[in-house]
Amino acid sequence: MFKILYVEDNPQNMRLVRKILMAAGYDVIEATNGLSGIATAERDKPDLILMDVNLPDINGLEATTRLKASTDVMVAAIPVIALTANAMHGDRENCMAAGCDGYLAKPVMKNELLNTVALFLKHPPSSTPTPNSTNTPTTSTTS
Ligand code: MN
Repeated sequence: MFKILYVEDNPQNMRLVRKILMAAGYDVIEATNGLSGIATAERDKPDLILMDVNLPDINGLEATTRLKASTDVMVAAIPVIALTANAMHGDRENCMAAGCDGYLAKPVMKNELLNTVALFLKHPPSSTPTPNSTNTPTTSTTS
């Protein structure tokens, strides 16, 4: 079962999203601020993180930047989808600049949420080979 961490300080949003995700068969773990979100991610290694941007301590973008800078490669590779109520111009760019892998505007729509989550769980960005990568075979077979 996929494990999803939702970092959210609003109890109503938490309840709604948890209900949707659990009904779809996901295991949901929770954190209510940025620092506990980071600690939970490091401890529980979720398959995906949904990150509210407006949090009471550090904001979700700062939390994402710290996660992506983690010395634990397992943690740094976890896809992060930002959830923001500030659907302003440039918001998506700010999220991406902070290291988020995806972006959802609030209010969260059920189908959009499930589609986005499924997309990242099936095709995590970290496993996508980049074209012209330096990932060349280490052994050569010259015969
Ligand atoms: Mn919030």
